[in-house]
Amino acid sequence: MATELENGPVPVVTASVDRLSPSLVRVVLDVPDAARLDSLGVPDEAVVLRFPGAEGGRWYTVRRWQPLRLTVDIVLHPGGIGGEWAARARIGDRLEITHHNSWFRRPEEARWQLLVGDVTALPAVGRIVEESADRLPTTVLVEVPHRQDAQDLPGAQVRWMHTEGLGRTPSRLDELVRGVQLPPGPGYVYVAGEASATRAVRRHLRRELGLPGGAYGVVGYWRAESEKWFARVAEKGADTAAIYAEELEAGGDPEDVRARYEERLATLGL
Ligand SMILES: Cc1cc2nc3c(=O)[nH]c(=O)nc-3n(C[C@H](O)[C@H](O)[C@H](O)COP(=O)(O)OP(=O)(O)OC[C@H]3O[C@@H](n4cnc5c(N)ncnc54)[C@H](O)[C@@H]3O)c2cc1C
Repeated sequence: MATELENGPVPVVTASVDRLSPSLVRVVLDVPDAARLDSLGVPDEAVVLRFPGAEGGRWYTVRRWQPLRLTVDIVLHPGGIGGEWAARARIGDRLEITHHNSWFRRPEEARWQLLVGDVTALPAVGRIVEESADRLPTTVLVEVPHRQDAQDLPGAQVRWMHTEGLGRTPSRLDELVRGVQLPPGPGYVYVAGEASATRAVRRHLRRELGLPGGAYGVVGYWRAESEKWFARVAEKGADTAAIYAEELEAGGDPEDVRARYEERLATLGL
């Protein structure tokens, strides 16, 4: 999934911090060295932000891309590296961008789109709607921890589902998707959220609805109880990056690769 920036990390400086809703903080980042970072022009494009003192980084969707500024919306939740930083973020805080990539691959012939996600996907959903809902019939299903996390998504038909304690109670994205009837004709389904939930959704889209690979994109954005999952990965001695690389090498469209990768993890009990 990663695409590391070729010439090393790009420094960014926090220009503003605004609480959007109970679960989301909007952070605008100045990019003084903007020439080193071009928009991919894909509405779910995301960057990895490295926080001061933290190992590694976290992916955040670029909600708005301006020439010298990027806007990201960060989900607040206790104990998260990104969430805890956002809860205390101050103007002038310095971060680094280390990676940049996108996953949304809506085919030209799509006559409708269905966007499904939890609160971490709301920035991507918001940007996709803003850029295309005026010309493409768009249905949105979003799961949020608080009713007040709902946002205006003009031009789209939106259904909000309230799952209190998202992260402490399982995500219900699968249930949301099972309840929907896809419009006729070619379209595109984009799903992003908690990794176990998106795995179940992918299976449903592939096996039960029989959608061909190019008709949908499913991305695991985060993992509930990730510490336990990583402990299981270590216990089983699984090299998840190597498994992914093998499946990538074996070929197929991105969804075939992700599906085979997920099936192999499932076989290992992961
Ligand atoms: C392509 C892509 C785009 C993304 N875009 C966004 C975005 O725009 N905004 C955004 O906030 N996130 C986004 N994410 C998810 C983000 O990268 C983080 O994984 C996630 O928000 C948790 O990061 P954290 O550092 O706060 O928590 P972590 O330090 O990763 O997790 C600590 C613990 O908190 C719990 N936890 C983690 N995430 C959540 C959550 N969302 N709700 C409740 N409990 C949680 C888990 O139990 C975990 O073990 C995106 C991910 C990808 C791959």
